Amino acid sequence: MKLPTCPNCQHSFTWKEACRAATKTKRFTYCPNCQTTLYPTANSLTKSALVFALLQLIFLVVLSALNLPIGIAVLALAIYLALFLAYMPYGYQYNEYEDSLFKL
Ligand SMILES: [Zn+2]
Repeated sequence: MKLPTCPNCQHSFTWKEACRAATKTKRFTYCPNCQTTLYPTANSLTKSALVFALLQLIFLVVLSALNLPIGIAVLALAIYLALFLAYMPYGYQYNEYEDSLFKL
């Protein structure tokens, strides 16, 4: 796992910059160094979605198998969200153009 770099100026994002870029609701972000518009690569979008889905699946299976009280389940959900938020900055790589998610 490594933090994203800008394809234009090779600026390596800090954890804080990568976190800010990954949590934006827009489909693009700007390089903190050269202000180039950057789009997440299709590969990194797919990878992040898979990690999110896998974490969810693991937690659903584990929580339902253990038959835990609701308080513990809520705590586990908070841990799950913290894990995902910690992963997010490392999950994205950026391009200067927008990738198509579907390659035919
Ligand atoms: Zn840059």
